[in-house]
Amino acid sequence: MYQKVKGTQDFYDEVARKFRYLQKVITDVISKFGYEEIITPVFEHTEVFVRSSGEESDIVSKEMYTFKDKGDRSLTLRPEGTAGVVRSYIENKMYANATLKKFYYLGPMFRYERPQAGRYRQFYQFGVEAFGPSTAFLDVDVIISAWEIFRALGIENVELQINSIGDFSSRTSYASVLKEHFAPHLDTLCPDCKRRYDKNPLRILDCKADSNHPAMKTAPRIANSLSFDARAYFEKVLKILEAGNIPYRVNDNLVRGLDYYTDTVFEFIYTGDDEFKNLALGAGGKYANLVPSFGGPDLPGIGYGMGIDRIIAIMEKQGLFPELKNKPAFVLLSLDEDSKIYSLKLAQMLRSAGFSAELDYLNYNLKPQFKLVERLDPAFIAIIGEEERNSRKITVKNNKTKEQTSVREEELLAYLKENLNENA
Ligand code: AMP
Repeated sequence: MYQKVKGTQDFYDEVARKFRYLQKVITDVISKFGYEEIITPVFEHTEVFVRSSGEESDIVSKEMYTFKDKGDRSLTLRPEGTAGVVRSYIENKMYANATLKKFYYLGPMFRYERPQAGRYRQFYQFGVEAFGPSTAFLDVDVIISAWEIFRALGIENVELQINSIGDFSSRTSYASVLKEHFAPHLDTLCPDCKRRYDKNPLRILDCKADSNHPAMKTAPRIANSLSFDARAYFEKVLKILEAGNIPYRVNDNLVRGLDYYTDTVFEFIYTGDDEFKNLALGAGGKYANLVPSFGGPDLPGIGYGMGIDRIIAIMEKQGLFPELKNKPAFVLLSLDEDSKIYSLKLAQMLRSAGFSAELDYLNYNLKPQFKLVERLDPAFIAIIGEEERNSRKITVKNNKTKEQTSVREEELLAYLKENLNENA
């Protein structure tokens, strides 16, 4: 017996329906904001992710599924969505005929992480990327789109945490202040942080292993290193959020794990009182340097990614899914072989007219066929025997009210159209 790979999941029955429900609600909301879908490959040249996330990021240094193909190319299963979208945006020169491009994606991502509640090795992300002018209005509109999605799904216990990590000059001066702060504690930091100290000291603040280290609590805040412009930009973002009645909390420690972010960074943290408490449902930020660092024009982007698996788990916990069973409009029971052939024809006629129809493929006895009716719970049923097939007159039974009506074959579609919603 084979088993699924550790950290992966099978979605079927109810959960598969929940997955598609989520996809529908999310894409309905996001299309109102003018986003269009982009579908990029699940693998890219490894360099795409190394360049965007940075050598020192957890993703690149520990979590990527990297392999050589038969042509000796180093390829990587995408650990996140932004890098591939940026690669595609530039490769296809999409900047040439639009000043603003808004994309969304939904698909599997792969990270070699320790599986636990809400953390998988293959997980699904919905995300958006907007390429265009650097303006606080766009930043806030992107944040609002995520907020609207949580609202449409009915998830209430979500806190928007936001911070600014400033522009390049703010970051450089902050890096040196941080180094000064952590220098006396270097011996007691984890091996990763010792490396980060030299290469990218901001990352120390993101460390999971050292999160309770006393020096973390006393670390200087990036807010004090922001340049005048970066501070003004951040204040504007907060002001627009307030005008839009979007509640937020400024979290000074939020620096995000990836190299490409600049200015606005944010996370949506689940605050419910269960095992998912404090998990991030989504996260993102603005990236001013990513497109140029990929060889594209000097255009900023902003985006976020949301964890579909986590959202499903939390919505299940909170009972937020509507009933998602697909009940068929019609189930046809048949008493002999010729009637089954006729039933299949009728089913086909119903289906091509847009009604869902099912039949029992195996049995001629009614008892097992009624079991199927019980399981599928259709709106209408009909028993087809010699008489029905010869007269082409069907006794349609409303499965709820148990009322029966004799309907001629050519009137069946009209009958269903009229009666399906009111009586079913
Ligand atoms: P990140 O790119 O790490 O900021 O991730 C964005 C969102 O994807 C997170 O907020 C989570 O909701 C989700 N996510 C990230 N990693 C995982 C994982 N290993 N399993 C499930 N969801 C994840």
